Amino acid sequence: MSRVLVVGASVGGSTAANVLRDLGLETVLLERDLNYVKPCGGAVPPLAFREWHLPESLIDRKVTVAVVCSPRHYSEFPVASSHPSPETDYIAMVRRERFDRYIRERAVEKGAELIEGKLERLEVGPRGVRAYYEDKRQRTHAIEADAVIGADGAYSAVARALGLERLPMAVAYQERIRLPEHLMAHWETRAALYLGDDVSPDLYAWVFPKYDHVAAGIGAGAGKTQHARQLLQNLKHKLRDQLAGGVSVKFEAHHLPMHPRKHLSYDRVALIGDAAGLVQQTSGEGIYWAMKSGDMAARAIAKHLDAPTAVHLRQAYDRPWWRAYRPTYWFLALLQRISYNNDWQREVFAEMCDDRDVQRLTFDSYLNKRIEPAPWTVQMKIAGHWLSTAVRKWFELRHTSADVQVQGA
Ligand SMILES: Cc1cc2nc3c(=O)[nH]c(=O)nc-3n(C[C@H](O)[C@H](O)[C@H](O)COP(=O)(O)OP(=O)(O)OC[C@H]3O[C@@H](n4cnc5c(N)ncnc54)[C@H](O)[C@@H]3O)c2cc1C
Repeated sequence: MSRVLVVGASVGGSTAANVLRDLGLETVLLERDLNYVKPCGGAVPPLAFREWHLPESLIDRKVTVAVVCSPRHYSEFPVASSHPSPETDYIAMVRRERFDRYIRERAVEKGAELIEGKLERLEVGPRGVRAYYEDKRQRTHAIEADAVIGADGAYSAVARALGLERLPMAVAYQERIRLPEHLMAHWETRAALYLGDDVSPDLYAWVFPKYDHVAAGIGAGAGKTQHARQLLQNLKHKLRDQLAGGVSVKFEAHHLPMHPRKHLSYDRVALIGDAAGLVQQTSGEGIYWAMKSGDMAARAIAKHLDAPTAVHLRQAYDRPWWRAYRPTYWFLALLQRISYNNDWQREVFAEMCDDRDVQRLTFDSYLNKRIEPAPWTVQMKIAGHWLSTAVRKWFELRHTSADVQVQGA
């Protein structure tokens, strides 16, 4: 029987392993550290639960109110798409330690073989792949497979073994803070994004609610990563009233790739999730994309197991991927460039969040993972609103000094 090796048993790799087992393929899941918890805000669109039949018991909180806060503007609005429904219009908040474990264990129940070991080297030949991994006792083992899915994240050893370049990275730094019940009530169904040089010079900072704590974090792009700790301190200072009395329970930091790779597939190897650079630039969202790319790569490999060449895998995985999602990646990369980089952009962005049509379009694309062009009347209205806001904010910023305020507690 043909065998597929999946390297990395986090969301992307474990989803791929589930699909491979559903398709009847022998599957080996290699994970460096089974106790590893991926640093993550854990915001997931409910679509992921429907697509991969995940139980709602994995959801800590359903966020139904979104906050966007720039240095001068506070916008609070419901998580509502063009067809609002309580069944689908929320952001699911999960803890990765539970979420990833569930998907991984389900793959094992379906028959995937789980090995704890760190991939060291990969030899790709005309008849198959030989992978060398080191176990916890630093003994080296070899494993043979017909194809490999590289699901080993931002520092991918699989990509390195293929001789691929390191992707440009941002860093995300997060603290989990357990709050007294009366303060937790404020975050019950609310998630907030903060914009500003003091908390994130080129991305955003966030507070996401979890089961009994909030995750407060910051993102910093290339060249700014050395300031990450200070930016997080600034965020906590800004939110001192909402976080007062909180107990810090965990610090987490990790890199996020900021650009997709030119190719997702190579001879006998497909890269998915962070290893392929499939994080969205504006939001740093990567969970759904790791799962979806894992699903699609697994199906592409199953289709071409007799000859999993780069040409075949690109036809079956890269092309359908970019056909479906290129507009989303393109649009969100553009949004990042025009929204987060200086106070003028941030003020325009935050104020545009009050626009009901902008909210609808944002949640249509986030919740359904599709960018549907709005009717031209709506596009014209948004363009006019953006233009007038941009001009007004430009004059306002020339004549006033920054007045950093946080409201809403
Ligand atoms: C602080 C932070 C907050 C974030 N918040 C969100 C959010 O709210 N929502 C969202 O959608 N995304 C978020 N992201 C992004 C998201 O975490 C990633 O995009 C997602 O985890 C990618 O999944 P993956 O399966 O591709 O890789 P990863 O989750 O990075 O998993 C890679 C796996 O491979 C294993 N591995 C690595 N090297 C080897 C090796 N040599 N051999 C064997 N195994 C190996 C690792 O141990 C790990 O289990 C956040 C990221 C960060 C850093």
